[in-house]
Amino acid sequence: KAVLTVGTPLNWPDALDRLAYVREHGIDQFIEMWRRSQTLTRDDDLLWGDEVEYAILRVTDKQAKISLRGPEIRDALATKEEAHSYRTEGCAWHPEYGRWMVEGTPSRPYGGYAADLCRVERNMRLRRRRLLSELAEDEICPTLVTFPGFGVGDFATGCADLAPNGPVARSESVPDAVIHPHPRFATLTKNIRARRGGENVRARPPRFVDTKTPRDAPTTIEGLDAMAYGMGACCVQVTFQARDSTEARYCYDQLAALAPVMLALTAASPCWRGVLAATDARWDIISASVDDRTPAEDGRGLSDSDDRLAGSGVRQLPRSRYSSISRYAFECDGPAGQVRRFCDVDAPIDEQAYNKLKAAGVDEALSRHVAHLFVRDPLVLFEGLIEEVDDTTATDHFDNLQSTNWNTVRLKPPTGLGIGGIDSNPAEREPGWRTEFRPMEVQLTDFENAAFSVFTVLVTRVILAFDLSLYVPLSRVDANMRRAQRMNAATSEKFYFRRQLAPNEVSEAQKFVNCCGGDDDDVFEEMTCLEIIDGKGDYFPGLAPLAYAYLDHIGCDGDTLARLSTYIELVRKKASGEAVTGASWIRKFITEHPEYQQDSIVSPKIARDLAVAAHDVGLGLRPAPELTGGQVIRPITRSGAWDTRLSADKIPTKEERRELLARY
Ligand code: ADP
Ligand code: MG
Ligand code: MG
Ligand code: MG
Ligand code: MG
Ligand code: MG
Repeated sequence: KAVLTVGTPLNWPDALDRLAYVREHGIDQFIEMWRRSQTLTRDDDLLWGDEVEYAILRVTDKQAKISLRGPEIRDALATKEEAHSYRTEGCAWHPEYGRWMVEGTPSRPYGGYAADLCRVERNMRLRRRRLLSELAEDEICPTLVTFPGFGVGDFATGCADLAPNGPVARSESVPDAVIHPHPRFATLTKNIRARRGGENVRARPPRFVDTKTPRDAPTTIEGLDAMAYGMGACCVQVTFQARDSTEARYCYDQLAALAPVMLALTAASPCWRGVLAATDARWDIISASVDDRTPAEDGRGLSDSDDRLAGSGVRQLPRSRYSSISRYAFECDGPAGQVRRFCDVDAPIDEQAYNKLKAAGVDEALSRHVAHLFVRDPLVLFEGLIEEVDDTTATDHFDNLQSTNWNTVRLKPPTGLGIGGIDSNPAEREPGWRTEFRPMEVQLTDFENAAFSVFTVLVTRVILAFDLSLYVPLSRVDANMRRAQRMNAATSEKFYFRRQLAPNEVSEAQKFVNCCGGDDDDVFEEMTCLEIIDGKGDYFPGLAPLAYAYLDHIGCDGDTLARLSTYIELVRKKASGEAVTGASWIRKFITEHPEYQQDSIVSPKIARDLAVAAHDVGLGLRPAPELTGGQVIRPITRSGAWDTRLSADKIPTKEERRELLARY
């Protein structure tokens, strides 16, 4: 990972004739990989890791601009990490779509011990410190989902050509220079536009109407006409390894149902392109910003059938390739028709792919899952890496589709060849089946990012250990996703949630199949986030008490428990309103700013002050107890970002010595 293919990507007209090849061979590669993974009897340990995305901005007194030094900074960080790799704790730095962004992960996944849950925040803080140490004096790196000044006027710096209307995005407001320079990203952008029929992508978040917002102002925020508006939004993701494919698929389903609740609790993007939105979260905006559907596919008009495209470019596709899931992935046989009944939204599949998967012996649910990924076209094809790829050893073509189906959860199969063996260090071994949780918005502080990441992992442990299920019909999950983005959803909205988490008694054979208790309508109801977290009535225990019960059950030590309870309590406080969401905090900052005119407009100066404040909150230099539920963030400084050797070789000069001694 973090390695971008070296090569020349094909423009859409040249790619068109090769799409079918990649789609077909992507399926072959999946089947090969699936077979390999069937023959390896794995009982993988829990390993997990988070991903945090950062924005790099350059500030003056008046304005902040995105700083297009992301790749340069990432490379410098990667080199330094390399030099520090002998240390046990480190970070890894990954390129992101935006040239002003970087992504950081732990250098190695965390292990499956309770104490490992306490490593997360420390590693996140180390990442922030290391990133900070690479910045120029006038640069900042807040963990803001979006910089409110993005797309407004002259908002970028660090590159010669910053004119909008470039050949790649053809955006009226966003220059092509904001896209990461690796050709993959420009090609992705261009080909999405080309596949749509040459039309720009367009997101339209609803405008927040304030007391002085002009009556004739558009009801939506206009001009979000580039992929960068969405893919430039920062999130926090959590990936964890399952014992095997069954467990990974089960977790995939449970987390899909949990996703809207976590989106609501982490919502932190109330402002786009200099205008306050009437929504709090990024989801629909990203979804629109990478929507490559043809007019016929998404029903916005007519378009010609073209046999080179997936579904000839005319198969109806109800969703963008960035979306909540369309199908549960767990195979629920036997008496448990319920999972299948709960797959009650349209989930088109590629018939050819489906037939091939079934013929290869892949079960119904997994076949449908994969065949649904393959209703899309591959978007970036590299010359020399198409027919040349060996389907028995490589997974490039499968990964091509998999990595551009951006869903709330992702099922990651073991794409390696099973090398590494069972004897090697589990953290160095090739990954097994994993589930990635992708809905959460990045938080301003590492305390919050750690809390939500840890809470997610605890919920999965509870579900597996107590044999619970969160299944509700996917149509309700969709409804929840819409609600989750509304203003103050964390405290004001209700979500369809499963009220019967546990079956009465289940046999071993029924493990994972316990989702079938009760009639469909009885098993779920609408709950607030607080009820979901804290419990409701005498029938729904709540996720937080379950997490505590689980920690008690595994005999978690007191120190660890003390730390973990600050995380669980933060999540509870976000749901009760005792701690505000990032969106509320940002909205309040903007609307209370002296320059704000009650007209929904966020001026460059307000955007600048917000970015600086966010950066300082992240560093613990500006208290924000309302955000962290009272938790004080210990300050992070540039010093000590990299290990300092206890060196006896570094001999001070006479002058230095005098100066040093005078100081102490
Ligand atoms: P992507 O961007 O494709 O989601 P990344 O490599 O950026 O992937 O992040 C994946 C996360 O998964 C990282 O936090 C990493 O530490 C973690 N991870 C790596 N290997 C494993 C594994 N075997 N099991 C679980 N998580 C892992
Ligand atoms: Mg990543
Ligand atoms: Mg990404
Ligand atoms: Mg990322
Ligand atoms: Mg990821
Ligand atoms: Mg990624």
